Amino acid sequence: MKQFEYVKAGSTQGVINALAQPGTKIIAGGTNLVDLMKRGVTAPDKLVDITHLPLKDITATSGRLHIGTLALNSIVSENSLVQKKQPLLSMALKAGASPQLRNMATVGGNMMQRTRCGYFYDTTLPCNKRQPESGCGAKEGYNRMHAIFGTSEKCIAVHPSDMCVALAALDTTVIIAGKKGERKLAFTDFHKLPGDTPELDNHLAKDEIILGIEIPDNNFADHSYYLKIRDRQSYAFALVSVAVALDISNGVIRSARLAMGGVAHKPWRLYDAEKALAGKQPSVPLFEQIARGAMQGAKAYQHNEFKINLASNAVIQALKVASGLVPA
Ligand code: SF4
Repeated sequence: MKQFEYVKAGSTQGVINALAQPGTKIIAGGTNLVDLMKRGVTAPDKLVDITHLPLKDITATSGRLHIGTLALNSIVSENSLVQKKQPLLSMALKAGASPQLRNMATVGGNMMQRTRCGYFYDTTLPCNKRQPESGCGAKEGYNRMHAIFGTSEKCIAVHPSDMCVALAALDTTVIIAGKKGERKLAFTDFHKLPGDTPELDNHLAKDEIILGIEIPDNNFADHSYYLKIRDRQSYAFALVSVAVALDISNGVIRSARLAMGGVAHKPWRLYDAEKALAGKQPSVPLFEQIARGAMQGAKAYQHNEFKINLASNAVIQALKVASGLVPA
């Protein structure tokens, strides 16, 4: 591993100032970054440790749940406010990683984690995300875990997070600080599709820091479900996951939020499905129709065609459980 400088940040402004120097990266839990450094995928000159900044709080104010960027995944998943107000987030976090990793990983770090595409991690193989214009090994190679939506000629990787799928469904806002002050960004606009710049995973500028997230209150708590399909129940990234949140009153779906994971370079929100569910009574035929619609535009590669059926079935099952048609 390349030698690097390590400093502890004393303030948010100090982090922003430090990030102005090229080759500087933020470290918190380090559960992904340290792996990337050990494998030579990334080689920062300087790490700024932000774990001592006061950005861990989970609070509810003015119709919003605020979660600091340094709140640990394990703490968020067990927090009583989160479990009561946003159980979908708790379910998604508990489906992610292992208990040991959740005890180290932070909310901001979870958002910033990089794809687990094997070509990205192997520095002897071509990868446009790691080395722009070097090619995409996965497109013609082994692509069983790769995307079926929103791919580009340059990259077909998926975002690996579970937490982010729930946050995308829950109309979350990201609070960001940089040289020009604070700004807010819709969570669904935080991550990006690969397009011609797969080396960029999101719209955070190099000299910005995530301060936290805000989730608006909603009526989804009684009908939320996160379904994750993976090769190994104990610990594995999603082949496909589905986050469903429904507001059901008098047997009618008043509003719905749906997002999928494991299928795209960013959490894949199903806006058309949400519109189609509103005002309807939950039923299996309706959910089958929703799932068929959700797969429109899916594009498979040599080894991941199975994901289209799997994702369709996962949408149906998640909707059945969330609506109470079947038990979890
Ligand atoms: Fe790299 Fe993306 Fe291709 Fe994987 S899918 S090899 S991350 S460019």
